[in-house]
Amino acid sequence: MLYGTAASEGIGIGKALIIEEHSLEYENTTVTDTDAEIKRFQNAVEDFCNNTSAQAEALRKSAGDKEAEILEGHIQIIKDPYLCGEIDKLIAGGKCAEAALEQMCDMFIGMFSAADDELIRQRAADMRDVKKSILSILLGVKEVNISQAPKDTVLVAREITPSMTAGINKDNIVGIITETGGKTSHSAILARALEIPAVLSVSGATEKFTDGELVIVDGTNGEVIDSPDYDCVQKYTEKRSGFLKERRELENYRGKETVSASNTEYELFCNIGKPEDALKAVEADGEGVGLFRTEFLFMDRTQVPDENEQFEAYKKAALILKGKPLIIRTLDIGGDKEIPYLGLQKEENPFLGFRAIRYCLKNTELFKTQLKAILRASAFGDIRIMFPLITTVDELRDGRALLEQAKAELKEQGSEFTENIMTGIMMETPSATIIADILAKEADFFSIGTNDLTGYTMASDRGNADVSYLYSPLQPSVLRSIKYIIECAAKNNIPVGMCGEAAANPLMIPLLISFGLTEFSVSAPSVLKVRKLISKWTKEEADKVSQKALSMSTEKEITDYLKSVTQ
Ligand code: PEP
Ligand code: MG
Repeated sequence: MLYGTAASEGIGIGKALIIEEHSLEYENTTVTDTDAEIKRFQNAVEDFCNNTSAQAEALRKSAGDKEAEILEGHIQIIKDPYLCGEIDKLIAGGKCAEAALEQMCDMFIGMFSAADDELIRQRAADMRDVKKSILSILLGVKEVNISQAPKDTVLVAREITPSMTAGINKDNIVGIITETGGKTSHSAILARALEIPAVLSVSGATEKFTDGELVIVDGTNGEVIDSPDYDCVQKYTEKRSGFLKERRELENYRGKETVSASNTEYELFCNIGKPEDALKAVEADGEGVGLFRTEFLFMDRTQVPDENEQFEAYKKAALILKGKPLIIRTLDIGGDKEIPYLGLQKEENPFLGFRAIRYCLKNTELFKTQLKAILRASAFGDIRIMFPLITTVDELRDGRALLEQAKAELKEQGSEFTENIMTGIMMETPSATIIADILAKEADFFSIGTNDLTGYTMASDRGNADVSYLYSPLQPSVLRSIKYIIECAAKNNIPVGMCGEAAANPLMIPLLISFGLTEFSVSAPSVLKVRKLISKWTKEEADKVSQKALSMSTEKEITDYLKSVTQ
């Protein structure tokens, strides 16, 4: 078994087709007729643009608009006036077209590859693809054509470039294995759009396999099995049928409302970490964003993002969501989320230390900057604010007071924002749970963070293997906490959601329906699954299950019982 990055879900069983790359070596000569050489380069660019727009059209039909835009982006890359102008200049100075193209492209590839931002790094891969295609045209080398691959083919390549993907016939290609590329690379995006199972970054794949060898690609678990025996093929054939059946069934839930079998409607949101993830939420059919973890905007950099940069990020997410709710959580650093440039002291007990709202209430300028950026973005969508790690009513009041100051400062500047922006809190500490009745009178909404609530309630660090047996949201104490929080919210007529991992746990769904949760916020790939799970329960059945589960004394009894009624 070989392992790689699980980039596109599903199981593919087929014969390996190794994509060999042709040599693109050339003689680096000095040209004398530079005008003719410039013309040769321009003709190659023209051929490239024509081929690429034809490929983009093919891809638009097989995968979709967004995927076609990736290829259209390649045309824009080479048509960039600066890039073309510099290549022409190099040729005019005597370089051959191949060398001039390579020098300029390599300069950009080096620059893009060094960037922290993954999207910019991705541009290096695009540039490499463009360079390869134009070099092939200049050298008269035929690019690999995979459109003729036989049925049940598993493509094995160093890299699947977007231009190669355009030739993929999804009736014939059942799996993709590459040596490079991550989850967000274009190869991965395209494989997902074409619904072809893919495992990327399998080192040495092109040498390990031989043409025609039987291979299994498990794109869900990132596994590749070479020369499987009969039993193994049987096992994976069954797995594949199960996967395809479930995928077909889940698609029936796309575009539908989230309702239980007793017709109660729920909001089904997504958790995101970056503004562009809002697109994933929309594509996954999420009805909004229930948790935007803003700390990711502060990580992997050397200084605090300023108000404008944050404003642009929040606005971007709001615009993508086109009026769907967007709950932005203020900075939740500390604990396991370190931001070196903020200069936080090393603490004996970081999870009980100076973190999240505690840090923000002491660093008011940094906090107000974020609040102002969120407020300004609220003019572009249905934005709500959420404070993390609340333990006392004072924290909520102090947070709100700073929010009022931020509003006043914006008003003075004449900036627009939503005056009555909803302000809610994460319910993720035992203290907040115990005073949920008091907090519910002052917060506009609750969102239960079961990841932390479980850890703090059970005094158990999930990263510590010796105590992880305690870490379960199905512990009686955690379940009672969740029930009480929801009851307090209901009594005070405020919405109550859950954005911890437990919201997508099939065993939890009947309990949450019974307790009266109003919103579920889950990872994008879980949306349809959770919608389906919710649709299966009536309130009456869910109540029966929750009463029985809550009468039990141990997590094991509860888990065993819930498994018996949910499977
Ligand atoms: C939680 O604690 O459940 C939660 C959603 O927040 P995070 O995982 O970011 O701490
Ligand atoms: Mg948390």
